[in-house]
Amino acid sequence: MAKFQVQFDSNKCKGCELCHAFCPKGIIVMSEQINNRGYNPASISRQEDCIGCQSCALVCPDGAIAIYKEDESQ
Ligand code: SF4
Ligand code: SF4
Repeated sequence: MAKFQVQFDSNKCKGCELCHAFCPKGIIVMSEQINNRGYNPASISRQEDCIGCQSCALVCPDGAIAIYKEDESQ
């Protein structure tokens, strides 16, 4: 089964929680850390449960999320 990596550019995040609201797997959480902009950035809680739907990346107004499919041939 395909695995996906969700990467956040934490310092682009403004903590709007849209990605958290739109993730069908409920695996995006807000960090307790504070980023450069003074917000609590989004992060992933259970990477292995990501289905690669891209909803989070599409809904993010700041382009702070990228999804990568892991290469299973290695
Ligand atoms: S790609 Fe889909 S399942 Fe994975 S974290 Fe983003 S919204 Fe959730
Ligand atoms: S949608 Fe983008 S800006 Fe909003 S919390 Fe998620 S990563 Fe941060």
